[in-house]
Amino acid sequence: MVDVPARSHRASKRYIYAWGGGRAEGDGSMKDLLGGKGAGLAEMTNAGLPVPPGFTITTQACNDYFAAGNELPAGLWADVLEAVREVETLSGKGFGDAANPLLVSVRSGAKFSMPGMMDTVLNLGLNEQTLTGLIALTGNERFSWDAYRRFISMFGRIVMDVDAAEFDGPLEVAKHAHGADAKDTDLTVADLRALVDAYKAVVKAETGRDFPTDPYEQLDLAVKAVFASWFGKRANDYRNSQKIAHDLGTAVNVVTMVFGNMGDDSGTGVAFTRDPNTGEKVLYGEYLVNAQGEDVVAGIRTPAKISHLAEDMPAAYAEFTAIAERLERHYRDVQDLEFTIERGKLWMLQTRSAKRTAAAAVRIAVDMVAEGLITEDVAVARIEPTQVDQLLRAQYDRAALAAATRVARGLNASPGAAVGRAVFSADDAVDWVARGERVVLVRVETSPDDFHGMAVAQGILTARGGATSHAAVVARQIGKPCVAGCAELLVDYAAKTAKSTISGATFAEGDWLSLDGSTGDVFLGAIPTVSARYEEQTELQTILGWADRYRRMGVWTNADKPEEAAQARSYGAEGIGLCRTEHMFREGERLEIVRGAILVAAKATRAKERVAAANAAAAKDGLPATARFDAEEAAVVARFDAAMAKLEKLQQGDFEGIFRAMDGLPVVVRLIDPPLHEFLPNHDEVLEEVTRLRAIGTPESDPEFTAAREMLAAVDSMREQNPMLGLRGVRLGLMIPDFVKVQTRAILNAQVAVRRGGGHPIAKIMIPLVGHVNELSAVKRLLEAEARKVEEAAGVKVDYKFGTMIEIPRGALTADEIAVDAAFFSFGTNDLTQLTFGYSRDDAEGGFLLKYVEDGILPVNPFQTLDDAVADLMSIAVDKGRRTRPDLELGICGEHGGDPESIFKCERIGLDYVSCSPFRVPVARLAAAQAALSGAAERDK
Ligand code: PEP
Ligand code: MG
Repeated sequence: MVDVPARSHRASKRYIYAWGGGRAEGDGSMKDLLGGKGAGLAEMTNAGLPVPPGFTITTQACNDYFAAGNELPAGLWADVLEAVREVETLSGKGFGDAANPLLVSVRSGAKFSMPGMMDTVLNLGLNEQTLTGLIALTGNERFSWDAYRRFISMFGRIVMDVDAAEFDGPLEVAKHAHGADAKDTDLTVADLRALVDAYKAVVKAETGRDFPTDPYEQLDLAVKAVFASWFGKRANDYRNSQKIAHDLGTAVNVVTMVFGNMGDDSGTGVAFTRDPNTGEKVLYGEYLVNAQGEDVVAGIRTPAKISHLAEDMPAAYAEFTAIAERLERHYRDVQDLEFTIERGKLWMLQTRSAKRTAAAAVRIAVDMVAEGLITEDVAVARIEPTQVDQLLRAQYDRAALAAATRVARGLNASPGAAVGRAVFSADDAVDWVARGERVVLVRVETSPDDFHGMAVAQGILTARGGATSHAAVVARQIGKPCVAGCAELLVDYAAKTAKSTISGATFAEGDWLSLDGSTGDVFLGAIPTVSARYEEQTELQTILGWADRYRRMGVWTNADKPEEAAQARSYGAEGIGLCRTEHMFREGERLEIVRGAILVAAKATRAKERVAAANAAAAKDGLPATARFDAEEAAVVARFDAAMAKLEKLQQGDFEGIFRAMDGLPVVVRLIDPPLHEFLPNHDEVLEEVTRLRAIGTPESDPEFTAAREMLAAVDSMREQNPMLGLRGVRLGLMIPDFVKVQTRAILNAQVAVRRGGGHPIAKIMIPLVGHVNELSAVKRLLEAEARKVEEAAGVKVDYKFGTMIEIPRGALTADEIAVDAAFFSFGTNDLTQLTFGYSRDDAEGGFLLKYVEDGILPVNPFQTLDDAVADLMSIAVDKGRRTRPDLELGICGEHGGDPESIFKCERIGLDYVSCSPFRVPVARLAAAQAALSGAAERDK
């Protein structure tokens, strides 16, 4: 171990943490400050693993740099120089020393891994003088010139903003001089020298200045460029897609260069301690002999499987496998490792938690519990809710797949079925998707600049690159199917076409493609998909079974039909939190019946009220009830009652089906909610029809004309400027009480019938859109009177709970009054969000709202993720409601009930359950468990 005196620090904060010679100033727990890479390097050094010496400039330095208007904080540069001196001591080399040059890499590294999204510069410190030293030291002229030309192009591109294509051109020309299939390894010393001159000329022409030769100037510029890459477009896009905060900043790691390109006893590679696609417990990775790290990821040559290293360099392989195992055990998680072998000596350059597919995540978590590496709660916490979602995503219909003809095959880089129309650039992908199309992004290979296209594509197809290429790594992480390295594909960007050299098939922009990321198969056309089979996913079920033990909140479902209820139940739903009865009104013959009732509902209701009022007044005077409908009223009432009777019968059948499907579990049935015009034909269409009939001289008595005029009058009478703020919800039930009566009878008679058949129906009746307690009290009286009639008729007691939705801010603010009548609340956060923000839920998302999110005016779409102010209203309602009724049952049934981030907020608010669509039930089970676990962790703190 080299003895290094303690370093002094000039800056007001400690910005530098160094490592080397077996000890490190930081450790693995310091990811916030050192970034993932810096923390990993420190931890590996502390563990005695071979790590080249270096130092980390902290994320705090990055943030202070931006805060000071892109100026390094005072004293930082002096501290960097001190740290460089220490690395010189540890490595026995000198930075800028022509006789014994120290070269470094300057690498980004944020708290959360952002693969390839920020910048890295290798071989820094080279100039004409140090190059001579490198040649003398290594005795390898070719290697040294190769390192130099790589450095100039990388530095030129990243630090000096020169377009990469400016460097690619001369390189391609030089390679082609050795034949059409020549590789970079075919370049001679003379070629490389000529390339260096050409590259320098490119830099001069493009930037107007000479390529910097002073290693310290190179270091200064490179550090600033890495900082700047934090706010680069691709890093910004990536953080937006992964919901990573923009104010974390990146650390910069300055690391002594070790060289994998010093001959056939050198190499470089990346490996995972388990297969990141399947989760299988095997070392999985690739390496290249005589190459630098960037070559593996960039897919320039096709790398060999890591297992071959056992033959190429047995000692290094044995050491590497032992280290891999040790790191996995140390971190208790699958590691993603980078290594370089320099003349037979192994160096570790990175360890980090590995990105993995959803299937792998679940398998690894279950396996690690079985191996005793982690506990069940850790396994539950480790699965991303989105991964559960991915596992339940569509796969190809087996019969359709068997009948399809494969046109090409590549590497199965990221599993899943992707169907979309071919596009050949990331920008085109974004344009097509904005027009409502589904696309598959086809590229020769992807780079971080393609991320925005990958993010919107259904899947990604590349002609080059391996399982650890950019396309593969990113696709796996964002859960997109990917077929990579499909070498038979000739991609023509200019013509926007691709051709398979094997099958001869061609396709062009806009043609449908189907990719199977699990097999690597590519098909022309759109193959139908089927939903994933939850029943076959035993490992997922194991995880969710564990999750159920940790969660506090129940997970219910929003279902309107028995089939949906059954599906949700098979996914683990513990009740129905929202049955939107009106959804049944649109099925088959029902719409006509409903329309028939609506057309005369107002008249019939008025007639009933007139007669009832007259008879009540008579009764008050001790007179007999003699008031009767007149002939016209009688006809209208008869028509209305007949339609409602039919509806009642049909609805009772629906409810019986749902009660049976959810036998023994609670079913919250909500009474009719939407504005009535939703069941009527479009106003303009009816008007057009009446006008047309009139124009062709149809006689007034014509039945078709009469019906059209009647419909127009009805639609006209129900038109509102703001229907979502108009006659809907509880208001509708109060204006047309027969809706409440009929639905109450249907629900309770269904319950009686199912119970008689041996079932155990649990009914909860819910009133929507209550803003004032008087609304709820009035409807409750109506409903209870009807319930008593059902009891009398059936001769048995009915059993139900009466509750309401809280979806109007006034309702939330007066929840103490409302809880007097309601035994349960269910938060309708769709309407509550609409009414809190004053955004129309029907129009905003198609209008300004998404632009707001894009421009950062809103952090997220509040109709997807519960807004904090809406959550505050819910909290107020919970507190007030519980004060009136301590056993008040509380749930959520807006769309947010299936959104993991919102579920965390529901846990904090203290709801009893969340209710979401059937396919989100498994995700919600996991998210609810994670919310409970993180709440417990908070309390423990
Ligand atoms: C809500 O408003 O959140 C809700 C569940 O009701 P609907 O979406 O039917 O208005
Ligand atoms: Mg609502």
